[in-house]
Amino acid sequence: MTVYPDLCMVIDGERVSGGGRRTHVVLDPATGDPLGEVPLADPADLDRALETAQRGFRIWRHSTPQQRAAVLQGAARLMLERQEDLARVATMEQGKTLAEARIEVMMNVGLFNFYAGETFRLYGRALVRPAGTRSTVTKEPVGPVAAFSPWNFPLGNPGRKLGAPIAAGCSVILKSAEETPASAIGVLMCLLDAGLPKEVAQAVFGVPDEVSRHLLGSPIIRKLSFTGSTVIGKYLAKLAADDMKRTTMELGGHGPVLVFDDVDVDQVLDVMVPGKYRNAGQVCVSPTRFIVQDNVFERFRDGFVERAGRIVVGSGLEPASQMGPMANPRRPDAVARLIADATGRGAKLHVGGDRIGNRGFFFAPSVLSDVPLDAMIMNEEPFGPVAMINAFDGEEAMIAEANRLPYGLAAYAWTTDSKRQRRLAREIESGMVGINTTMIGGSDSPFGGVKWSGHGSEDGPEGIEACLVTKAVHEG
Ligand code: NAD
Repeated sequence: MTVYPDLCMVIDGERVSGGGRRTHVVLDPATGDPLGEVPLADPADLDRALETAQRGFRIWRHSTPQQRAAVLQGAARLMLERQEDLARVATMEQGKTLAEARIEVMMNVGLFNFYAGETFRLYGRALVRPAGTRSTVTKEPVGPVAAFSPWNFPLGNPGRKLGAPIAAGCSVILKSAEETPASAIGVLMCLLDAGLPKEVAQAVFGVPDEVSRHLLGSPIIRKLSFTGSTVIGKYLAKLAADDMKRTTMELGGHGPVLVFDDVDVDQVLDVMVPGKYRNAGQVCVSPTRFIVQDNVFERFRDGFVERAGRIVVGSGLEPASQMGPMANPRRPDAVARLIADATGRGAKLHVGGDRIGNRGFFFAPSVLSDVPLDAMIMNEEPFGPVAMINAFDGEEAMIAEANRLPYGLAAYAWTTDSKRQRRLAREIESGMVGINTTMIGGSDSPFGGVKWSGHGSEDGPEGIEACLVTKAVHEG
């Protein structure tokens, strides 16, 4: 039986807690009961982390690919060994089902192993120059990174935030969400136990705005990596701009799903409905706006409603649960508000629409249809277990609806027409497009958005590239 661990920060390899620091109470989303208290950094903690990161960069920028690969592969092995404990802790503090939490561990294992291989492929080039002269282009690690990760993937987000800088030869200070601190520390400990020098990666928690202003206000930090909402992303990008720091911004989305009348509707539903309610919809690439060709609209909507109504909602630790609670008390209230606004404007609510019980943060799988485009939920990321299904009368109108919003993270389309598949791939404004699939990521594949969904990529060679700067050296 996994016991929820004592919570701490890790600064210069030392577990830091207590000492009169402010704390944040971590809640179990399945009950609303406290699990523990995480210490919040004060300015002296952050200064210590910064000074350590500076030393860490001096050490790690000279590391060999072999050293970096050994650490990443070692951490991947430890994550596999610790998979069950890591997954249980993530479920305890975030709420998702254990099966989903185990997948997060495996995402990190895959990513760390991929990055380990990539450390050997950080190439430069030699330019063609007259004999006796030489010009080379090299890639160098950007410097200490400040990385802020949210609570929805408590293991996967810290894995991405730590893996790329470490593979590139940077140091990193991670501030993961205060709601899910034990998972982040669990991932960091795999790296430190695999031999990563203690100065290279650290984890702090704090009042988010205090931490981000302190770290981004320091010239030591050379890059910001943020995953979270567009509103906060824009704010942090402005802070980073003051010192011209590099940025990778993984922000919100509003995933359109185009369903054409040439598909097997039941087959699509069997994939998309579980995809919608994964992690209770708290996924930046969640399928959200279902844009359905009018002649299959009713069949699609009715099949969706029937499947959504059958989803077993319960504690993520219960093997029978297919969907856990929402991660924190803000989410059920926010989703209920969005649904009320939509129905107030004439949308039809077919199933769900409310919290389940009064213990924990459970919310029923919900389906809306005929939702006016000016409803808040059609314009803001709902980040919850609610699908909106609307009918459209053909490809052009469906693409226009997919591109209507300023977001462009993930989009999905279902059609058997191969020419149309290519048109959709070209026309949809999105960082990732899934055609006849919900699988839009992988350790070797760039993950990131366009427009208000941010810029830069994580994962793939692009994930490491984002932590490198380019230098041209010309020798006469
Ligand atoms: P939020 O927008 O305040 O926080 C989102 C994340 O950003 C949290 O992890 C938070 O700790 C962090 N954060 C907030 N202010 C920060 C700051 N000044 N500096 C550094 N980090 C900061 O609110 P929330 O209630 O947690 O989430 C609200 C919305 O955020 C959701 O509805 C969703 O749209 C979006 N969100 C997106 C993702 C994602 O994966 N892209 C993840 C979580 C939340």
